[in-house]
Amino acid sequence: MLNKISDKTYYLSDQEDKGRPALGLVSGDHSSLIIDAGNSPRHAEEFLQEIEKLNLPRVEYAVITHAHWDHFMGMNEFDATIIVNHQTNDLLQRWLNFSYDDLSLQKRVSDKQMSPQCMEILQEDMPDRDNFKLRTPDLIFDKSLVIDLGNKKCVIETVESTHTTDSTIVYIPDEKVLFLGDCAYGTTTNGLFYFKQSLLMPMIRDIQKFDAEWFVLGHESICDLEEMDLYWKELIAASAAVKSASLQKAEESFKAQNKREPNENELFFIKAFVNDRIIKSQS
Ligand SMILES: [Zn+2]
Repeated sequence: MLNKISDKTYYLSDQEDKGRPALGLVSGDHSSLIIDAGNSPRHAEEFLQEIEKLNLPRVEYAVITHAHWDHFMGMNEFDATIIVNHQTNDLLQRWLNFSYDDLSLQKRVSDKQMSPQCMEILQEDMPDRDNFKLRTPDLIFDKSLVIDLGNKKCVIETVESTHTTDSTIVYIPDEKVLFLGDCAYGTTTNGLFYFKQSLLMPMIRDIQKFDAEWFVLGHESICDLEEMDLYWKELIAASAAVKSASLQKAEESFKAQNKREPNENELFFIKAFVNDRIIKSQS
């Protein structure tokens, strides 16, 4: 079932056990737009079945928020204009050239070009994939793009992000809803989870310039403004305490700055900013 956020916006909840992110839907007077295409054709089909039940105008546009497989592998299922930013388009190229038979998938996993989870989900959800080719995006934009669905404007914009270098968000001004994809998360390199510290404040500035009340996050589903503000506050406090690759110094600094111990989230973020310092010191 799709969850209704506001008059014209909906989302399909994320499903952690299946590696599925939340998918968004906006409808106007003459067309609809989706945010992210699902982690497999099966995920996309299930989303389309739910959309059909609502009797909305046809899905004419699909925005891919970034080039992580779980957000785009379902895109062949949509008879829609696929919209990506330039960088996402560049990152997608190798996925367009891939073959998806079992041997090719195993080779990608051993070359570390694909996660084992991606292979397992594609094998499970796409039993017949020997001739599968991912379709190419149709509309490539640079910084921002506005699409009118008929009395319903969608602002599509590239933002700074601690998660990827190619993050796109979708903002619906009339509804005060912001679809963030995964942009507000950290990322993992060589098994180390980290937040790109230098991009935290630029990202928050890029996101906070939109007047939103509801935020759809790729793997959390929905947050209200208060929850989102708390998330930023905890991230900022954690980042302010991290000045080196020492976790101990960062924890001491947090206590001195805030006159209290970090909570569970803040400690998680402190570790992630320390990991960013560790990765930078190694490169
Ligand atoms: Zn992602």
